[in-house]
Amino acid sequence: MKYLISGGAGFLGSHLIESLNGEITVVDDLSTTKFVPKGIKIIKERIENFDTQEKFDYVIHLAARPSPEDYIQHPVETALSNSLGTRNALEIARKSDATFLYTSSSEIYGHAEIVPTPEDYWGKVNPTGIRSCYDESKRFSEALIMSYYREYGLDVRIQRPFNVYGPRLREDGTYGRVVSRFIYQALKGEDITIFGDGNQTRAFLYVDDWVEGTLKMLGKGLKGEIFNIGSNKEVKIIDLAKKIISLTGSSSRIKFLPPRQDDPPRRAADITKIKEKLGWEPKISLDDGLMKTIEWFKGVLS
Ligand code: UDP
Repeated sequence: MKYLISGGAGFLGSHLIESLNGEITVVDDLSTTKFVPKGIKIIKERIENFDTQEKFDYVIHLAARPSPEDYIQHPVETALSNSLGTRNALEIARKSDATFLYTSSSEIYGHAEIVPTPEDYWGKVNPTGIRSCYDESKRFSEALIMSYYREYGLDVRIQRPFNVYGPRLREDGTYGRVVSRFIYQALKGEDITIFGDGNQTRAFLYVDDWVEGTLKMLGKGLKGEIFNIGSNKEVKIIDLAKKIISLTGSSSRIKFLPPRQDDPPRRAADITKIKEKLGWEPKISLDDGLMKTIEWFKGVLS
């Protein structure tokens, strides 16, 4: 089997590749993370600019800048990789008649009024807000993918991951994803920065669980299907901070900062569909996943 993976050198892609057997080509601009697994053909290019005559069995489009603090600094690049990038990846898949898997985002639900949120919820998104470069472009990608499915019969699947974390999440403490930032701060003894009052929630998914669910989504008979992939266990950000302080035995203190603009107040996945159709549900508890992640961070920070 031949796989083309955009963003394959990133956090999610590098974990996925370790579980795939076949000939893998990665297209990645290496702008955020750079984990290039051994024996993989890597092309340093943005997916929207990538041109090839090669044929693939699977096109997996992961390339994106998912960290709010990062994408808000790079809104044009973000909006383009999630729109033109998706178009280019779809065209490559169409020429190959490949199976196309897109990593969308729980972000497309915006300020969801139903939590845990099922796939058939339409979302409540600010089309011109500070996060729109990400959430609206992910929504456009989904619309374009479903158009390729309806017009050309392309075998597409869409997944919507909810706050995946684990080893290799960027560790520099400025990148902004909450798990990596809190662990970094706790291990360095710095203040743990909470935006707002910390009552906002997320549900966290350990990366090994994400890989297992993603592999299932590459199976047969899933043309045009959309799946949440995440946890339904909501955690308040303040409680996450306390948990990380306790698991690391850190002396860090909690510091409250002004809230982030348009920060979704609650987020968790309704996973009824993926459980029923693919027999998947998360296996790794938050405590176990955080411990594995903390161990990895200790290694890279020492
Ligand atoms: N967050 C926080 N402090 C930080 C980073 C994030 O309180 O240093 C909060 C953020 O306001 C949001 C949640 O943690 O409510 C998750 O943020 P993240 O950047 O991981 O991504 P999001 O889920 O918003 O896309």
